[in-house]
Amino acid sequence: YDLSYHDVRVMMRDTVTLLETQAILHNVYIEAEYGKEPMWVFGVENQIKQVFINIIKNAIEAMSDGGAIHVRLSREEDSVRVLISDEGPGIREEQLAKMGQPFYTTKEKGTGLGLMVSYKIVDNHDGQIRVSSRLGIGTSFEIRFPFRYPETPAVM
Ligand code: ADP
Ligand code: MG
Repeated sequence: YDLSYHDVRVMMRDTVTLLETQAILHNVYIEAEYGKEPMWVFGVENQIKQVFINIIKNAIEAMSDGGAIHVRLSREEDSVRVLISDEGPGIREEQLAKMGQPFYTTKEKGTGLGLMVSYKIVDNHDGQIRVSSRLGIGTSFEIRFPFRYPETPAVM
């Protein structure tokens, strides 16, 4: 598969474009700021996009009354930070602990596999993922990948 350097801005823009119609059908608006500088990471494009798709889809599904999803990308010293926050109902503490476990779902037709796969992909890319949630306020996923400029030799 295609193991290469990718700009997170491009992958995220593709993802938002892909999910925009579905969002609008749920009265959800995706508001994204991509930033001005390239945000290089090294890895498999379709896998990284799959992580963004899974998390944004969950956010859309969480907001049954509509609302906004905010996407922020920023470049830090040696990492690329992706923040995806929603205005959904939030997640209770005891549920937070179960998220990412295989087959854990609160949806009638859920598979409970999206987050498990996402956590695995992020881990395989030497990244980290964190969830924080406040009841009645919303949920945020923060994903970090190592910044890998195309000229620096990659270890993988
Ligand atoms: P599925 O979407 O098939 O249920 P996931 O692994 O994607 O499986 O998510 C597991 C569970 O985590 C969901 O069923 C839901 O209860 C919870 N969850 C995930 N993202 C959010 C979110 N943004 N807001 C509220 N709950 C969420
Ligand atoms: Mg899901």
